[in-house]
Amino acid sequence: GLLTGKVALVTGAGRGIGRACALALALEGAAVAVNYSRSEEAAQQVVAAIEAAGGLAVALKADVADPEQVERLFTDLLAKYGRLDALVNNAGITRDGLILRMSLEDWNDVVSLNLTGTFLCLKAASRIMLKQRSGRVVNISSTSGVAGNAGQANYSAAKAGVLGLTRSAARELGSRGITVNAVAPGFIATDMTSALELEPILAQVPLRRVGQPEEVAGLVRFLCADPAAAYITGQVITIDGGMVTA
Ligand code: NAD
Repeated sequence: GLLTGKVALVTGAGRGIGRACALALALEGAAVAVNYSRSEEAAQQVVAAIEAAGGLAVALKADVADPEQVERLFTDLLAKYGRLDALVNNAGITRDGLILRMSLEDWNDVVSLNLTGTFLCLKAASRIMLKQRSGRVVNISSTSGVAGNAGQANYSAAKAGVLGLTRSAARELGSRGITVNAVAPGFIATDMTSALELEPILAQVPLRRVGQPEEVAGLVRFLCADPAAAYITGQVITIDGGMVTA
């Protein structure tokens, strides 16, 4: 595969989009660190699936909103695999509510993980990638970060922040051969969206269906692995069935 001999880290990879990214990068030949914060069982199942397919993987526990745990995550990663070629900042949560009723706690929790957690992992990864003079970073944003979304001011602000972080990091790290891009999914069938009513969503989606985690993972795989993505950096790529257009 294109990533044989390379190492990838996917945050929040026990399920959903992160799980699909871990599997896709492993199938491309990367040794994959499957980060999780709570469910070790889910992360170990991802590791087992990768190993069953002949790949290499390890489950690494860390709450990526916590600076000390992020430090330890990268120490553990280097101890296990000795390098880092691709980072996928995928871990994310929602705490939906109208602004008028949104608690400061719900604001802070969402910003801490979705934006600050992405910063902390990018910072730790850049230390390694700058030395290697190569690396690819993909930050999972959202169409909510591009267009905004009623009831998701905290999440939209955090995901929009990820876009500014992405563009700035691309400018800072480009001279050392590191690309930094963002992927902005629309509605993808995962636990995060399972409680939503489909009909009003699909009315806004030209392709008239939700996306699958594997489709997002295909784009992430391209950005992390494909030689054709080497000249793409600082970009936001929307994958949403055509819902949001410039
Ligand atoms: P999900 O809830 O299934 O997955 C989120 C993952 O993050 C889980 O594995 C969870 O355990 C992990 N996580 C939560 N808190 C963590 C922490 N503190 N540290 C480390 N890991 C933590 O949802 P998903 O849909 O797979 O979401 C993945 C990413 O995609 C998120 O960033 C989400 O915002 C983004 N996204 C999802 C959609 C969608 O429609 N599903 C759309 C746009 C963006």
